[in-house]
Amino acid sequence: MERVELHRLRMPMKEPFETSFGVEYDKSVLIVAIHGGGFVGLGECGAADDPFYLEETNASAEYIITHFLVPMLLSTEFDSPEEFVRSIAHIRRNEMAKAAVEAAIWDLFSRSRGTPLYRMIGGTKIEIPVGISVGIQPTIDQLVSKVAGYLEQGYKRIKIKIKPGKEVDQVKALRTTLGDFPLMADANSAYCLEDAELLGSLDRYNLMMIEQPLAYDDLIDHAELAKKISTPICLDESIRSLSHLDAAVRLGSCQIVNLKMPRVGGVLESIKIANFCAGAGLDLWCGGLLETGVGRAFNLAITSLDAFTLPGDTAPSERYFVRDIVDRPAEFSSPGIISLSERPGVGVDFDPSTLQDYLVASTSFG
Ligand code: MG
Repeated sequence: MERVELHRLRMPMKEPFETSFGVEYDKSVLIVAIHGGGFVGLGECGAADDPFYLEETNASAEYIITHFLVPMLLSTEFDSPEEFVRSIAHIRRNEMAKAAVEAAIWDLFSRSRGTPLYRMIGGTKIEIPVGISVGIQPTIDQLVSKVAGYLEQGYKRIKIKIKPGKEVDQVKALRTTLGDFPLMADANSAYCLEDAELLGSLDRYNLMMIEQPLAYDDLIDHAELAKKISTPICLDESIRSLSHLDAAVRLGSCQIVNLKMPRVGGVLESIKIANFCAGAGLDLWCGGLLETGVGRAFNLAITSLDAFTLPGDTAPSERYFVRDIVDRPAEFSSPGIISLSERPGVGVDFDPSTLQDYLVASTSFG
């Protein structure tokens, strides 16, 4: 590895995306590019500028990458991504910073071997079924018409963001008007265990799951809630590593896992989690963090593993961005399906003109 670049970008979003945390109007992006042997490997940081999803931010990730991960990369020889992961094990947490660099290493490694990343990690599916995440809408009517439109476009599963006080009306309206399609709700930790009865009132609507209803770092209360409601519980924020998942399963905190590579620290930890889910009979799907085409390509590659049993939030780029920064943005090959690229590596390169338009600053090391 000869040189590392960090690119900070500002990507205008097509429409504001509202969750129970707040509204995002445009997306701040941090991309890692590692040069070596005539190849460039790309990785994307999953963080935002605020610490509202998890504690890491683009600024904290940039600090960890600049002061700890880049010096390690440029001063040590690695024969495999696994070796790199072992060498940074002494850096506590900071999963998103580590995942961004590890991703770029995997991309570089698979490009240098002329193999698509998905094959290198043992993926088999090349047609990826895709779901969509719908932000909180100003009115119930707008929610219903949005969801109807997405079903028409072929999305295989609809996830809605719910907010306390609005949830029953949201779900009821969708079921009454659009019937029994694959529907789930993501609460982003907006509830507490005292809301068990309220959450139980969603049981009658046959949701595939409710995602992360309770605190972002909780396992115990989720296990209590699981005894009180029949809708399966999916964990997102609470699962930061394989050991968290192991604890969650032993406690009975979840039946389904939403995996986000940046949240669990990278490709390797994601593979371990996928193997664990397959062994334990848990359903698994891939979430999203409003990634550009770079992070989106990694999400699609990991979803090629057999352990991913449910459609993920891997919608085409055009659902979120006016223009993507890559030359092969994720797009449907048929309604609700994205086909994986057979290009070596993760399968995308920068689109130079879009990159230039959205670039805020670049730093180069080595
Ligand atoms: Mg979530």
